[in-house]
Amino acid sequence: MRMVMFGPPGAGKGTIAGALTEQWGIPHIATGDMLRAQVRQGTELGRRAQDYMDAGELVPDDLILEMVRRRLSEADARRGFILDGFPRTLAQADALDEMVGGVDAVIDLEVPEQELIRRLSGRRVCPQCRAIYQVDTMPPRKAGVCDRCGAQLVRRADDEPEAVRNRLAVYREQTAPVLAYYRERGLLRSTDGTRGSAAVVDEIAAAVAAGEKP
Ligand code: AMP
Repeated sequence: MRMVMFGPPGAGKGTIAGALTEQWGIPHIATGDMLRAQVRQGTELGRRAQDYMDAGELVPDDLILEMVRRRLSEADARRGFILDGFPRTLAQADALDEMVGGVDAVIDLEVPEQELIRRLSGRRVCPQCRAIYQVDTMPPRKAGVCDRCGAQLVRRADDEPEAVRNRLAVYREQTAPVLAYYRERGLLRSTDGTRGSAAVVDEIAAAVAAGEKP
């Protein structure tokens, strides 16, 4: 299964891709996570990407494509993968087709913008063990403290209100056009992302098991 998990920031791509890759035993390849790891490690790529990321802008295609090409050539990606946060531009979608000879399915998680803003502004992350919380729907047991490791939770720089507004505008202008690319190829399946993640995961897993076309 070569799948793209698509949708605006805050739609739940990471949660759902994470659950599916566990069921299917294929890698979850999230370009945002890969970039944040590069920033933490202080690599050249991390340094070049950080300002774009903090402002909620897209990192230039050439940097992203080089990183993804490398990751997809690793042995574990040969049996399949779920991409999360990639492709985000038409140029990236074209390049992906050229790298792997096409994908099998693209899942679009549909969530209204008001709900995305609410989710992103309430997201908190653990800087130490990377656990993710949501102040309304998935709060830690003690406010501001990670359940798993006890570190103080923080808000990602790009979850600050101004960066969130920018990320949503970037999604509408640069990323949403990729949907038409996959729709034209008969690969797009849209699903209601406002439901709990378990319902979404079950729906996708059942459709794939039944061999349904998107
Ligand atoms: P995410 O965690 O997917 O929301 O990504 C966080 C940030 O990383 C984005 O706001 C972009 O700055 C950058 N990023 C992640 N994936 C891509 C991509 N495919 N193309 C360009 N920039 C990306």
